Amino acid sequence: MTGLSGTKDDADLVILNPRDGSLVASYPILDQEAVTATVSSARQAASWWAAQDFAARKRLLLAWKAEIARDAETIASSIAAETGKPAGDALLEVMLTLGHLDWAAKNAKKTLRRRRMPAGLMNYNQSASLGYQPFGVVGVIGPWNYPLYTPMGSISYALAAGNAVVFKPSELTPGVATLLAEKWQQVCPEPVFQVVTGDRRTGDVLVRSEVDKVAFTGSTATAKKIMAACAESLTPLVAECGGKDALIVAADADLQAAADFIVFGAMGNAGQTCVGVERVYVEAQVHRKLLELVVAGVAKLSFEGDGAAYGPLTLGSQAEVVSAHVADALERGGRAAWGGPESISGRRVTPIVLTDVPEESLSIQQETFGPTVVINRVESIDDAIARANATAYGLGAAVFTRDKRLGLAIAEQLRAGAVTVNSVLGFASIPALPFGGVGGSGFGRIHGANGLLEFSVAKSIARQNRKAALNLLTMDRSERDMNLVSRLIPLLHGRGKPRN
Ligand code: NAD
Repeated sequence: MTGLSGTKDDADLVILNPRDGSLVASYPILDQEAVTATVSSARQAASWWAAQDFAARKRLLLAWKAEIARDAETIASSIAAETGKPAGDALLEVMLTLGHLDWAAKNAKKTLRRRRMPAGLMNYNQSASLGYQPFGVVGVIGPWNYPLYTPMGSISYALAAGNAVVFKPSELTPGVATLLAEKWQQVCPEPVFQVVTGDRRTGDVLVRSEVDKVAFTGSTATAKKIMAACAESLTPLVAECGGKDALIVAADADLQAAADFIVFGAMGNAGQTCVGVERVYVEAQVHRKLLELVVAGVAKLSFEGDGAAYGPLTLGSQAEVVSAHVADALERGGRAAWGGPESISGRRVTPIVLTDVPEESLSIQQETFGPTVVINRVESIDDAIARANATAYGLGAAVFTRDKRLGLAIAEQLRAGAVTVNSVLGFASIPALPFGGVGGSGFGRIHGANGLLEFSVAKSIARQNRKAALNLLTMDRSERDMNLVSRLIPLLHGRGKPRN
């Protein structure tokens, strides 16, 4: 049961390949009845799944991983057809995803098993332990830009923590999600992982269904709507939203390496990456050189055939956003160092490199999500940090310097959930590192131990193993007990003095 056989609301989702408009497939837009039935079967499966021990869950998750890996080419083809990205990029996405699934499966026991906790002096007669239980059913809502990697960042960790998952993929990329659900059925007859296809209405129904937690990845605007819906039932939410990532280049940096990473981070996947490089702040003395190197880098990119650097915009309407940001930057006095408004031809957008763009511009303050980058000069590293931190977003960031201490010091000061030093996107491929943002980029964490904890409920147990000398937790406590307490308070807690 994939949840795909329910009734239709109205028209199907008709998926066209963004490269050539050819028909890929169509999928039903599931309505309330179908989603409710799917969540209800997921609830039964959740009890079964939660009752399995860590080893059994690990076995099944690794079997699922192997099924996906054996058919990686098919899955990559589906990603490429639905998003328009090059096949090689899609295959890398599959590999990256499997690394996370592997880590989640293998680290769930270590992270979530019950462990003893210190009870403290006053509680010498109790043994304390902390364990983690699954929420039950997690509703996952995903975007289209990395239609496998981003939702699986929630799905893998939610499943490994013992939850059942109902996944509503983006209306642009239901095919890859459907393949995932089929692979699950091949390894497990229980509907622990199911997919409901549809658009925002299906997503809204899922959020308002009886799911125990929602994991959302998508735009900040949608996260606000989902949070409002979750508020009605106090359903907890993890929100992975948009970004406006900054990259800082110090004067001592390896400029060629920085330029290579900027070109990849800004233009890769046609700039449709939540942690893509959208802004660069470079120290004034190396600004010109860096700009030349980036321009030389984008000038070499090819847009045709198998070697294409990136594909068309997946979402046609995004071209209007890119156009508006570029026009606004130029009107406010920014300069185009490469490309410009003429680079945008519908979904096909060749690289645009802007410089000297005022900080209040749209292309500095809002997510552009296209193959564009702003490279602004700064007078100092402090200036760079202040500008980098001056947007509503706080997802990822990067810094380039040969000075290890400086790199780490800058990383600490950047308002972002994850920072790379001397590379871009490095954290995304390290499963042990938690991922998520602050401010407009959302809250909560996927990936790593934090990702497993995000999909778990802490359960504390305190077991009294002998009678206490002080009888404080019954109505029979004596005056002698209370006299002892008043002597103990200053002894235990009254010794610290403020330092002069
Ligand atoms: P989107 O917000 O338009 O849609 C995301 C998902 O939400 C889709 O499945 C959509 O059907 C669903 N949805 C829309 N309205 C809904 C509603 N009211 N209730 C329930 N579900 C609803 O985002 P998108 O265009 O698909 O994706 C691009 C955005 O995702 C960008 O902002 C990008 O930065 C962000 N993103 C963030 C991360 C991250 O990990 N932080 C990763 C990838 C993408």
